Amino acid sequence: MDGKIQSLRARIDDLNLSILEILSQRAALAEEIGELQSAMGLSHYDPMREQEMLDALTAANEGPFSDAAVKSLFKQIFQASMQLEETQEKRHYLTSRRSHGEDTVVLVGDVPIGGKHAPVLIAGPCAIESAAQVEAVAAHVAAQGVTLFRGGAFKPRTDPYSFQGLGEEGLRLAREACDRHGLALVSEIMDAEQLPLFEAYVDLLQIGARNMQNFTLLKAAGRSRKPVLLKRGLSATVEEWVMAAEYLLNEGNPNVVLCERGIRTFERYTRNTLDVSAVALAKLETHLPVLVDVTHSGGRRDLLVPLTKAGLAIGADGIMLEVHPNPAVALSDQKQQVDFETFDRYLEDTGYHTKLSEKRLEVYGF
Ligand code: PEP
Ligand code: MN
Repeated sequence: MDGKIQSLRARIDDLNLSILEILSQRAALAEEIGELQSAMGLSHYDPMREQEMLDALTAANEGPFSDAAVKSLFKQIFQASMQLEETQEKRHYLTSRRSHGEDTVVLVGDVPIGGKHAPVLIAGPCAIESAAQVEAVAAHVAAQGVTLFRGGAFKPRTDPYSFQGLGEEGLRLAREACDRHGLALVSEIMDAEQLPLFEAYVDLLQIGARNMQNFTLLKAAGRSRKPVLLKRGLSATVEEWVMAAEYLLNEGNPNVVLCERGIRTFERYTRNTLDVSAVALAKLETHLPVLVDVTHSGGRRDLLVPLTKAGLAIGADGIMLEVHPNPAVALSDQKQQVDFETFDRYLEDTGYHTKLSEKRLEVYGF
């Protein structure tokens, strides 16, 4: 008799372990659902869904437990899952919509980016190449109503023998041109050690795709008083991108603008693939402004207008675009930069400074 009880108990022990394993699998799925619901801003508690599950369970119940006992057991399981999701949710990230419901508006010079403000346009050459070049572009875009000017002085080039940028001289030339035309300056910083230099010259520190996870740079820029434009890495997930922004906020810099610039996919017709869903996701997950760099996304001039429309339609707070007086002789990104005539046509075709800026609500409904 004793031996029989022992063996039945051993089977129960095994079943307990199996139940535990299944419960853990269930908990993992519930956590996954909780994360997706948080990303969509939905509540974790769905009484209808609970009722459906209880109905299905009692319908399938063949005893020996009563329906009431089955319900009570499963309600305990549901409760435990809810608690798990709540604990998860408590890990509030500074970038998260959950910790900050309002849209963050970042001021660059006196230009607001984000919230209900009109979408901004950051225009300028890929690289600052000479005093004449930077002056010509600054004068042209400023005359078209642009307020934010871009231009790289330190270029992260794939080929080490290609033009690397003019360095500090480039920053100086760009600063002078911006001051002459009332523009705020955006330029890419490549290394934490360059911070004092950049703080002296630029209004918005750009952290490029290739440096999105340069944590030393992120920490240094996070301690700066200058706002930061954080591009998404070439193959970074939205979560990795947002976590990189978290570094900046965690160091005390609340003025962060995200920028989707296309990601690596199998597509060969474009240089990168503009991930429009990432723009919407970044806006849902975080309270930070999100821009779209249409030049590097597609890598094609004929896509600039449609990508701009797509970006703004999905909620982007602005666009970045490269303009060069003579792209054919540009020292970088020859294929993608637009000349002045094309830039003017782009403004007309997108309605950027008329329709969209003044009537965004009317045009896109938000
Ligand atoms: C740039 O904007 O100059 C640039 C290099 O872009 P990305 O970092 O997105 O490649
Ligand atoms: Mn470029």
